Formats: sequence, C-alpha cells, structure tokens
Amino acid sequence: MSELKITDVKVFLTQPGGSRLIVVKIHTSEPGLYGLGCATFTQRCFAVATAVERHLGPFVMGKDPRNIEDIWQSAMLSGYWRNGPVLNNAISGIDMALWDIKGKLANMPCYELWGGKCRPAAAAYGHAGGREPQEVADSVRSFLERGYKYVRCQLSGYAGKGTEPETEGALPGGYFRPRPKLHQIPAMFEHLRQELGDDVELLHDVHERLAPIDAVWLAKALEPYRLFFLEDLLAPEDIDWFRHVRSICATPIAMGELFNNPREMTPLISERLIDFIRVHISQIGGASPALKLAHLCEPFGVRTAWHGPGDVSPVGMAANVHLDIACHNFGIQEWSPRNEKELEIFPGMPEFRNGYLYPNEKPGWGMEFNEELAAKYPCREDNPRAWVARIPDGTVVRP
Ligand code: MG
Repeated sequence: MSELKITDVKVFLTQPGGSRLIVVKIHTSEPGLYGLGCATFTQRCFAVATAVERHLGPFVMGKDPRNIEDIWQSAMLSGYWRNGPVLNNAISGIDMALWDIKGKLANMPCYELWGGKCRPAAAAYGHAGGREPQEVADSVRSFLERGYKYVRCQLSGYAGKGTEPETEGALPGGYFRPRPKLHQIPAMFEHLRQELGDDVELLHDVHERLAPIDAVWLAKALEPYRLFFLEDLLAPEDIDWFRHVRSICATPIAMGELFNNPREMTPLISERLIDFIRVHISQIGGASPALKLAHLCEPFGVRTAWHGPGDVSPVGMAANVHLDIACHNFGIQEWSPRNEKELEIFPGMPEFRNGYLYPNEKPGWGMEFNEELAAKYPCREDNPRAWVARIPDGTVVRP
C-alpha cells in the first residue's frame, strides 16, 4: 500500500452511563480501514468536540495516517499554545485512532507494536467504600470475593463525613470538613488491617482535599498500614511539597490524574518523589506521550497506574490495558465495570477475570464502536460539572 490518506475525522458524543464520553473515528483512503480514539474530557466535552471538528480534524485531513509521531508533534505545535486539557484531549482522539490504524495495518494488537506482552493480563483495583469503617471492610470483602487483589478504600467518598455550610449566605456546593480526615482515615485503615489482615493490598485517594502540611502529616500517619499507594495527596499546584513527604515516610505515592503538561511530571519522576504515575492518558495527548512517559519512568523506578474511572471511554480503557501489557514498569490499573449499554456500544472491551484485565487478540485496540446505538444515548446538554467543593465557611476549594 503505497499511498494512504486520512479521508474523514468524525467525533461522537455519547452518554450510555454516568459520564459523557467522546470518541474520535478516523477513516482512511483504504476501504474499511479506520481507527478509534478516546478524547474524553467529560466536564468540557463540547469544547473538545468542537476542537476536533473545527481545528484538529481539518488539520490532519489528507495526511498519511502511518506518520503518527509527525502528526502528533505538528498537531501539538500548530496551535502555538499547547499542553492544555481541551486540545490535549482532541489530539488524543486522533493519536489513539492512528495507533488503532497502525495495528490494523500490521495485523497486530497495539501491545505487539510496543514490544509484545510483559504479562498476559493487568492487575486491576476496584473502588470500595462506606460511611463507617466496618461498612468499608464489608465492601472490601465483596471485592475480594469477586477476585480483586487490590482495593481502594474510601470513607464517605472523597469528602469524609458529610457536613453543612456554617455561614449565612454561603453558596451551594459539596461541603466537607478537611481536618477530621486526619483522624478518620488512619482509624479506618487500623480497622481494615485488623479485620482483613496483611495480605490484601489497600489504596486510598485523598483527592487533593487537604492543606499541604496536613497532607504531609497524613502520609506519615498512614505509613504503618502499608498502603499499596496513597493517591493525589497534594494538588498539582502544591507538588513541591512531595519533597517533604518523601523525607519523613515511605508511604508509596501515586500522582498525576490532573496533569496536562510534561513539566508537571518530569521533576517528580527524576527526583524519585512519587512511586506511581497516574495520568489520564487522553489528558496528556494520547498513547504516544503515555508510552514515552512510561519509558521515562522505568529507570527511575516509577510504575504506571493510568487513570481508569467511568470517564475514560472503553476505547481509552483498551489503550490503558494495551500499555499495561506492554510496559515492564506497569504497576496497577484502575478499573470501573461498565454497564450493559456501554458494552453493547463498544464491543471488544478488555475483560476482568479473577482480578486481572485481559485485552483481546484482535488488531489495533481490538475495539468496535456501534455509532447507531451510541446515538440513542446523547450527552445531557446541561452544563457539565457545575458542582464545586466548599469548606464550611463557604470557601470554594479544590475538588
Ligand atoms: Mg483519583
């Protein structure tokens, strides 16, 4: 095949579950040869769709889809301003679709293109939770019964115990009280270790909800419970504080789901201040930068833990798992089971069996996309994520 061109770029918005999903489909001059990519920035989905339709799609039309690296670099630079979440996601939709096409051209799954399998399947963790420590313990047990070996444990979600505003005229929001977490979370893990023993791997997500010095204190307080990792202990704006965390305890740190710019990641990796890199792959621009990031992490002993909740499309989850399989320094994969509608719209999802995720053996991502069925579940038109987090005096804070 000497000449091959991109002939059409389509973007699809669909909401078969709780999250608005964005999928990009690239058609080529070769009949029947197309690729699928994930561009899911669920909170700003319409902006991403417009960026693909009006800017990135026209930019790649007529180009040779085999030249993934040149297309990625030129797409990132062609707008002059770069590394922002909307355009990164738009580029990701295209980048992943080009890798899907590359795999189909080679008649290989993407993980084969990247060196083949380092392991047959990727270990996954699920999300347990409850309002009291005993409820969390019961929830963890239900995950263990389903085969999970790794379980994230949350007490009343990310907020801790529910609370109400205390000032007159405080605006609506999700109210929470940060400081009680400092005794509630260590107490929860004390209870979980007593109830569940030492074999189960436990994780926790702080969701950047503490003042930096309180975050440092919590990491130290949790050290005796030997977490697999403590996630988003600090906000991206506060990452310099990781040096203090590192200097006082050996609690493993996972960071990065809000990162967009390579400059946010590289110091944490090269200074060995984190243990797991946890980016949302479409937020950094797709599979190409994720593969490079994984390889950057390897000599520094940092493992991957790609973001994998319901606001990663099934195509994006397939990309996560292909990287998990191919990268030696894979750590763990976050996993959220999908509903029946999503599985019908996206045949080919990696399958969860006995705690591990298995990709299929088909070329590219091995995924299909039922456009007609997806169209039956359009995205809600209301403003995504108008909700904000606040503390009791009414101050808006990071989520
Ligand atoms: Mg998280």
